[in-house]
Amino acid sequence: MSTEKKKSDSGSASAPPALPAPLKDLKIKYTKIFINNEWHDSVSGKTFPVINPATGEKICDVSEGDKEDVDKAVKAARKAFELGSRWRTMDASERGRLLNKLADLIERDRLLLATMESINGGKLFPNSYMMDLGGCINTLRYCAGWADKIQGRTIPMDGNYFTFTRHEPIGVCGQIIPWNFPLVMFIWKIAPALCCGNTVVIKPAEQTPLTALHMGSLIIEAGFPPGVVNIVPGYGPTAGAAIAHHMDVDKVAFTGSTEVGKKIKEAAGKSNLKRVTLELGGKSPIIVFADADLDNAVEFAHIGVFYHQGQCCIAGSRLFVEEKIYDEFVRRCVEKAKKKTLGDPLVSGIHQGPQIDQEQYGKILELIESGKKEGAKLECGGGPWGEKGFFIQPTVFSNVTDDMRIAKEEIFGPVQQIMKFKTVEEVIKRANNTQYGLAAGVFTKDLDKALMFTAALQAGVVWVNCYSALSAQGPFGGFKMSGNGREMGEYGLQEYTEVKTVAIKIPQKNS
Ligand code: ADP
Repeated sequence: MSTEKKKSDSGSASAPPALPAPLKDLKIKYTKIFINNEWHDSVSGKTFPVINPATGEKICDVSEGDKEDVDKAVKAARKAFELGSRWRTMDASERGRLLNKLADLIERDRLLLATMESINGGKLFPNSYMMDLGGCINTLRYCAGWADKIQGRTIPMDGNYFTFTRHEPIGVCGQIIPWNFPLVMFIWKIAPALCCGNTVVIKPAEQTPLTALHMGSLIIEAGFPPGVVNIVPGYGPTAGAAIAHHMDVDKVAFTGSTEVGKKIKEAAGKSNLKRVTLELGGKSPIIVFADADLDNAVEFAHIGVFYHQGQCCIAGSRLFVEEKIYDEFVRRCVEKAKKKTLGDPLVSGIHQGPQIDQEQYGKILELIESGKKEGAKLECGGGPWGEKGFFIQPTVFSNVTDDMRIAKEEIFGPVQQIMKFKTVEEVIKRANNTQYGLAAGVFTKDLDKALMFTAALQAGVVWVNCYSALSAQGPFGGFKMSGNGREMGEYGLQEYTEVKTVAIKIPQKNS
């Protein structure tokens, strides 16, 4: 997912593959609920339509999971987790081999999955193929490598004891994911959970279930035992809430809005106090000092907010620019935004695709209107684009002040807000003056200043002279209302184990 320009970190660790053309005749094979390595209709018999956001047309219907389907999936996951089961008695290295096998199968189906992701999610095909699919493969291989390296400790406890810790899997993990990175989020959730030996019930977002369901077929092919991964497509307040409230789900990992994140935590508290990790919204600051490499800063500030139509939790949607360079910086940002070509995300040369659905589209346009009304200067864009689908013009606002809604609320759209600052103290206060704390960027050539900001900014990740640099090795998550816990890296794996202390009485210990 990194947007680093020169060294690509997508694809396998070796050179990334050349970009092929998207598949022309994509067939959707998997549209049912995946439980116990089998395909099931929903208990209610209901289905829901899946839409192509570039056209507004239906792609197919998918079985609509609800509470009863979640119950079935949890039972399967619980059975797969029983003591003595094939999964529980498997060598840890074999779990790693299965994860690597899954990565191999994704590599084989990369073109199909990338095409599907672009059609269902409105994602530019080169990004799907290189960034998303590359990220998925790398993440699986990273977790595969960890599977037989998760170790406890021996502890010098007082008294005559031999004491050690076991890092055990938690159990049945419920996982609820959003629509902006459907496959990446699927892998970010299942890979660490499986690496540590858990079983999974995962619900893709209702807008984008297709790549997750294709993964069901690959999970069978890779050789995972039945019930280890179960995939229940459906809506949030029904299937999602059933996972969050379930008495036999041991942990829930959620990525999505802060509003729903609060509901997940509440559901955990009202049910069985299941462990909760949350990766939520953001309103991330990017701070540009006059001494920065301006070409670099303009580029990253642009990608930082416009990548995937602004539909990223890390979007750098509050851009603070030092007064001395403000006018020039705004001019360059506008120039870049105006150069974007909108259209079908499968066509080469397109820079911006559609927003995911009617609801997001309406919300973004409403926030743009609020910016105009509250007195921000509309530099470009500011309205819908095209005859069909959910496209919005790349929009830049200057003269934005901190009290405006566009400076406070998560827009999740192609809208850049540019504010002015004078001093270091002032911009630290303003950057931190938000309920969120997911990411932040600072651009300066002054090392002391950069280091000071890495400490001062309240965010789970701070980028210096770059933005959006993410990969499987680096932990990711938020301060404040951007979430709880971390995903990926060793810290992320810790969220999928319970630590058990074992003390054995012995006749006499020796140092
Ligand atoms: P967004 O606003 O970006 O669509 P959401 O937080 O609504 O993000 O959705 C993220 C995921 O959470 C989706 O899979 C969605 O179905 C699910 N979800 C939405 N509402 C609930 C809920 N009340 N309980 C559990 N999951 C939910």
